[in-house]
Amino acid sequence: KSVIHKFVQLIVPPLGRMCYSSSGPTTKLFIDGKFIESNTSEWIDIHNPATNEVISKVPKTTQEEMLAAVNSCQRAYPSWSETSVLSRQQIFLKYQQLIKDNMAEIAKLITKEQGKTLADAEGDVFRGLQVVEHTCSITSLMLGETLPSISKDMDTFTYRLPIGVCAGITPFNFPAMIPLWMYPMAMVCGNTFLLKPSERVPGAAMLLAKLFQDAGAPDGTLNIIHGQHDAVNFICDHPAIKAISFVGSNQAGEYIYTRGSKNGKRVQSNMGAKNHGVVMPDANKENTLNQLTGAAFGAAGQRCMALSTAVLVGKARNWLPELVERAKKLRVNAGDQPGSDLGPLVSPQAKTRVCDLVQSGVEEGAKLLLDGRKIQVKGYENGNFVGPTILASVKPQMKCYTEEIFGPVLVVLEAETLDEAVDIINQNPYGNGTAIFTTNGATARKFTHQVDVGQIGVNVPIPVPLPMFSFTGSRGSFRGDTNFYGKQGIQFYTQVKTVTSQWKEEDSTLTGPSVVMPT
Ligand code: NAD
Repeated sequence: KSVIHKFVQLIVPPLGRMCYSSSGPTTKLFIDGKFIESNTSEWIDIHNPATNEVISKVPKTTQEEMLAAVNSCQRAYPSWSETSVLSRQQIFLKYQQLIKDNMAEIAKLITKEQGKTLADAEGDVFRGLQVVEHTCSITSLMLGETLPSISKDMDTFTYRLPIGVCAGITPFNFPAMIPLWMYPMAMVCGNTFLLKPSERVPGAAMLLAKLFQDAGAPDGTLNIIHGQHDAVNFICDHPAIKAISFVGSNQAGEYIYTRGSKNGKRVQSNMGAKNHGVVMPDANKENTLNQLTGAAFGAAGQRCMALSTAVLVGKARNWLPELVERAKKLRVNAGDQPGSDLGPLVSPQAKTRVCDLVQSGVEEGAKLLLDGRKIQVKGYENGNFVGPTILASVKPQMKCYTEEIFGPVLVVLEAETLDEAVDIINQNPYGNGTAIFTTNGATARKFTHQVDVGQIGVNVPIPVPLPMFSFTGSRGSFRGDTNFYGKQGIQFYTQVKTVTSQWKEEDSTLTGPSVVMPT
């Protein structure tokens, strides 16, 4: 086998350039362990956001192909769910190494399709890799509970068991991390998985699927389809699919949560955000301004945990000119260019939307302290670039505040006190993330207790939890009752079976049937 493997390595180009990924003219489907060309007549173009050149196309999977994919998941389920947990763990141990070995190749694909800088794209892969590493401790994570002697000669214990075929629908902004939040957690528990990556950035997911196969995942345990609404509706409606994990916008997330739940499925839906960074006047000024600038504009603001709203409290309002100076210094360029701090937005439509929201702020009375809308990037004149933009004197009723902008735009509000800042945050419908910058422990404690947001940073601008915890967005940023990864992820992808058994050393004969409730 190893001789064949070496031969294949000689004749096959490096992973990222293989034809199954979007680096080929067409993106393949992954069905029953094979990368296949779709029979569809409907294709969606994939563009490089730095140039808007078409780099590949992705199929709108036909109904027949989607059925083949879900049937494959169903066929693979009985043996995969019965595979020993140690064998599944071994596959994930190999998988995490393969992801590490191919991190640069995956990152390149992400930059090409999504636009983010190469360093940021590696971060995207790395945060997903951490979830895969976490799945390797499944032998502890999946343990059930026991309580001996709940009655004479009677014990109760629970098993955590897989639930069947699970599915995932993912957004464009983290092409590696978010798929990796889903199928590794689901599959290490013994489920099989149907993935529909974002039609705008499918390449990383395809390459990750190839690596998963190389790690030893049996055919049919992971299947990948592509498309938009029809693929989403198929997932929401197919009776064999027991659970759906979704990450994306509120419009899609609310729809999928409602449709999937109505069909009796478990649904966890992570959605949009408006994350506030509260700056107290006692904060370490230098650190705070650097952290705020990085978290507002990094990834061109296309992160659900971007710190897109600053609330300057009391005298911290005077720091605004220095914040603008820092933002001005960030370098905007294609993601694969050395020294680039932020790349382009994902599409011309995204750029238009962001620019329109900035304009609405100006028209509603906000002060445009930094305007990145007309930026020209030499050599990339057709790219979807927007430079760092800062709108100050923003009020909560303005559209640039009520809507998620999802671009390199920081909106700045002001507050007299911490209480006022907390009120602003709690009245905002979203509850994904927030951060406070302060040197006062009591202020930080009060903030973390009073703010109604799922993920809180204290002097930490992007507090995305590591996988031993869970991603705990709340309120308008989340639908469902068990979050992604960590213990909650295991709970989402498993069901509990409770066994009560009685074994007597000496069999005693019952005197007759007991018709009362056993106590
Ligand atoms: P999106 O909702 O447009 O797309 C996400 C997925 O849903 C894609 O696979 C897409 O094909 C599908 N989809 C899109 N519109 C649909 C519709 N009307 N009906 C059914 N399916 C539809 O999201 P996006 O633009 O790819 O991603 C950006 C959004 O995702 C932002 O709102 C961001 O805050 C959010 N996001 C949230 C988190 C989180 O963990 N809370 C993480 C990343 C991104």
